[in-house]
Amino acid sequence: MTSRARGALGVSLLIGILSNPSIANEKVTSWRLFVSNHERGVVSVIDAEKRASIASFGIDGPASLFRSASGELVFAVQGAANRVATIQSGIVFRDHGDHADIEVTDPRLLSIAFDGPKPSHFVEHDGEIAIFFDGSGKAVTTSERRIPGGSAESREFDSGAPHHGAAAVFAGHVLITVPNSEKPSSLPVGIQVRRMSGEAVGAVHPCPDVHGEASTGNIMAFACSTGLVIIQPQNDAPSLRHLPYSGLPAGKVTTLIGGRGLQYFLGNFGPRGVVLIEPTEATAFRHIELPTRRVHFAVDPIQAKFAYVVTEDGKLHQIDVLNGSIVRSILLTAPYSMDGHWSDPRPRLAVAGENIVVTDPLAGKLHLVNRDSFQRVGEIAVPGKPFNIIAIGGTGVVHN
Ligand code: ZN
Ligand code: ZN
Repeated sequence: MTSRARGALGVSLLIGILSNPSIANEKVTSWRLFVSNHERGVVSVIDAEKRASIASFGIDGPASLFRSASGELVFAVQGAANRVATIQSGIVFRDHGDHADIEVTDPRLLSIAFDGPKPSHFVEHDGEIAIFFDGSGKAVTTSERRIPGGSAESREFDSGAPHHGAAAVFAGHVLITVPNSEKPSSLPVGIQVRRMSGEAVGAVHPCPDVHGEASTGNIMAFACSTGLVIIQPQNDAPSLRHLPYSGLPAGKVTTLIGGRGLQYFLGNFGPRGVVLIEPTEATAFRHIELPTRRVHFAVDPIQAKFAYVVTEDGKLHQIDVLNGSIVRSILLTAPYSMDGHWSDPRPRLAVAGENIVVTDPLAGKLHLVNRDSFQRVGEIAVPGKPFNIIAIGGTGVVHN
């Protein structure tokens, strides 16, 4: 299984920022952490290199945070406040062919926001953004590049009924969840492809209890109770197929993230498991059992073969996605039991350069762990209960 997995993942995508020091005038590394508060509408911006707060933005309510692939924008999805705020990260990379320039300016809260009842899932693909509003059952799409200029031209798509759903722009079309017509309060039943004009293309693709979506390279997936719906571009349109779960214990994926640099998905599977998914392989699913229940997980966007999981015993685990095994573990926080409400404050993690950063809401701080030594290298105090976190940054060239 190991050699098979290596071969499969060897077909990698090259995503990231290259810099060629021979051309460099000056190499600059900048990483920023955007951290939301569990109880209040605040997003803290922290310089991960200096380990100091550089800005704090008041928004309308507690938020889930998402970043665009380019890293120029942060989206603060405030489900209870019925608003999605946009923040300019202040870090921009410009591709100069054999290297990338970095431009670092102050982060700022933009005036553009997307309003609607209960915004929930946020999906970006190739710079196209889709925000689903559970309270209306409608999705709004726009392009990342339109937002900083202030002309957030958007389109609206109606799924037919309020439900906990999702939408995505893919290959010039929109994918949108189809509510359960008998009981819209339960999870949706499938995915409908629509043209940008709104017109439906083909029949509903069944995906029972669809919840969780991600993309890796040019593939997108939605998770269902029966397997995944895999979406690939074909003749300038999305092509959908169902990949049933196989070789797994009972369970289903309800949260998916996509590998960066290597083409794979990582999903939750049962309270104590994660699953590595390579849709094009004969053995598409590999289950990894965790020592205790899972709290949060993320992929490493730079060292592509690693992913990380925080478990309820307060440990951070490094997973080798090639071997499908836990490599190293470190105790970081007091226990955060998964008993209690799903939305209780518990750790979240992000990868900022060479460090994994884990929020510790009840201790009011962030823990930094170096990827290579897998040792703690510091902590940063954050007022309140630091909760969701994303990291933006990298190394680029500044021509003086
Ligand atoms: Zn340049
Ligand atoms: Zn959800």
